[in-house]
Amino acid sequence: MAPLEIKKHPDKILRKNCEPVKNVTKKEREIFNEMLFTMRHFCGIGLAAPQVGISKRLIVASVEDVTIKLANPEILDTSGSDTISEGCLSVVNTVIDIKRPAVITVRGLNEESKIIELKTNGLLARVIQHEIDHLNGRLIIDYMGLIKRLSSTLKGAM
Ligand SMILES: [Zn+2]
Repeated sequence: MAPLEIKKHPDKILRKNCEPVKNVTKKEREIFNEMLFTMRHFCGIGLAAPQVGISKRLIVASVEDVTIKLANPEILDTSGSDTISEGCLSVVNTVIDIKRPAVITVRGLNEESKIIELKTNGLLARVIQHEIDHLNGRLIIDYMGLIKRLSSTLKGAM
């Protein structure tokens, strides 16, 4: 297997709202496997389908011993909050501190096209939220605060 090409900002596909899948079939399982292979090849811990040019609501994540493959993921519930530095395979050389809920309950379709619900925290919860953002066309740079944007503008002006 060869890794897929990672789409980089400002590629327009990264800004699309991805389409839900009806069922997880052989086709989607192949995409999940190619995404996981690509993610690991580039030393990532999560990947969303639009990052490899596929505008479908599919994500993968692998944190410590837990690997997940989810279609149509939806966050049902959240609690707490954490600020963690995030990077992204589609946004090179950029790390941004982002505040997000610490604990999430997510629902989606697994590899067998069965509805599953998962309550998780820590890094896995963080990665899942980051990948769901991708499905909605959202990137880490969108979280950059106004002050930071303002100061980079000012720096440019000087
Ligand atoms: Zn990303």
